Amino acid sequence: MARRVVVPAELLAVMCPGEVALGRRESHYVRNVLRLRRGDAVILMDGQGAEGYGVVSRLDDEAVSVDLTEFGRSAAHESPLHVTLLLALPRGQRWDVALQKATELGVDRVWPVYTRRTQLRIPPDKVGERHERWLRIAQEAARQSGREVAPDICVPEPLGTVLDTLENERDVDLQLVAYVDAAGHAAEAGLEDLLSSSRARKVVLLVGPEGGFEPAEIDLCARYGFHAVGLGPRTLRCETAAIVMVALVQYRLGDLG
Ligand code: SAM
Repeated sequence: MARRVVVPAELLAVMCPGEVALGRRESHYVRNVLRLRRGDAVILMDGQGAEGYGVVSRLDDEAVSVDLTEFGRSAAHESPLHVTLLLALPRGQRWDVALQKATELGVDRVWPVYTRRTQLRIPPDKVGERHERWLRIAQEAARQSGREVAPDICVPEPLGTVLDTLENERDVDLQLVAYVDAAGHAAEAGLEDLLSSSRARKVVLLVGPEGGFEPAEIDLCARYGFHAVGLGPRTLRCETAAIVMVALVQYRLGDLG
């Protein structure tokens, strides 16, 4: 079976047939992680749906090259449901876990948001570096789960800015915010109530920070057309809430199960 390697889009811009030299990171991956040999079949993918099919033509300590014989596009593993996940940027590994799992579950776009109780603020001069890292996590998760398309990862923005931007995307069918109040009670409307009667094709899901949303933020979301929903009687960590919410929505309206 041909192994998949995510490469920058420009590498696939060669004439076909043609040979491409992989970069340092991809060469390491082919040589030391996949442990491919000369002549092994490989698929180079750009994470945006373009694929190049070929064989490893050179593999030594200095370089790895792939001889591409054919190009194509594939979307066979993409859900018919378009999901944007908005997640209040959590600290540490939680974001990475949510990003990785959301990618595996088929989301189209992941957008970190700053809410009033978001503790982590990324200094502007560090955003580019973080964003690069997030793209790599998403591309790796896409590759591992057999997706040809990695989700778009946005740069963090304040909640109000994100809601304004989404308001201009007129084809969104359903917007849900997962909410637990200060006493730990989840919003009364369960997801099932909203999803069982829905035929939505494009949804936006919002999950709050470790400290939860302030009620005024839930009011703001309601003004933008979001429904507050509960995810059951237990308070979930934010990354768990994000994974559960995406999984339930994909199960009901997408391609899970
Ligand atoms: N102590 C916080 C509070 O009072 O809101 C708990 C926040 S929880 C760790 C992080 C986020 O996950 C929440 O803002 C909410 O979006 C989501 N969440 C966790 N458990 C939930 C539940 N049972 N129902 C709905 N949303 C939930």
